[in-house]
Amino acid sequence: MGKKGFHFNQSLCSGCHSCMMVCKENHHLPEGAFFRRVSSFVSENGSKPGVFHLSLACNHCMDPACVANCPVGAMYVDEEDGTVQHDDSACIGCQSCVKSCPYGAPQYRVDLNITQKCDGCYDLRAKGIEPDCVQACLMRALTFGDMEETGTNLGKVACAPESTTSPATYVDESAYAASSFRDWLM
Ligand code: SF4
Ligand code: SF4
Ligand code: SF4
Repeated sequence: MGKKGFHFNQSLCSGCHSCMMVCKENHHLPEGAFFRRVSSFVSENGSKPGVFHLSLACNHCMDPACVANCPVGAMYVDEEDGTVQHDDSACIGCQSCVKSCPYGAPQYRVDLNITQKCDGCYDLRAKGIEPDCVQACLMRALTFGDMEETGTNLGKVACAPESTTSPATYVDESAYAASSFRDWLM
């Protein structure tokens, strides 16, 4: 089985936030904690201003800083599908992963004194069901699958410090947003 990850087609995303909210609800996350976030930006480039959106969760990086910096091995790469997973029972709540992830993906749970993050809805996928966020996207802007088929390009778009983790997320940028998206990441 190849490395799995998200594909986000920015030109299809309406910024509805459904992916973000269904994830939060189904994972029973407390106030302020999100495994997926949708951000909106205004592009003023050229003669065609517009608004574009970006939906990002954990990028299940190929060189994950969270794994490298966890002192107890609670963050690890799944051997089957290459996603980055978290063992709640091993986590000591030190937040080393929170500090080392360039994308703000790990969420510290004050109520549990552990960190948690997007697992790509591992249990659902084991049953042949798509991740909650993918199911929730009526625009079909989000998909999850084999990165050998979709490729990875977030690392190429992102600025150098962020791309050091080789994020396994493919972002199909909408044409008018592309240059502003890069400006924002820089
Ligand atoms: S996005 Fe952050 S938490 Fe997710 S694999 Fe990459 S470094 Fe780890
Ligand atoms: S795959 Fe699951 S846990 Fe990850 S962002 Fe989507 S709904 Fe949330
Ligand atoms: S559910 Fe789909 S269209 Fe709505 S914000 Fe998320 S990715 Fe964009």
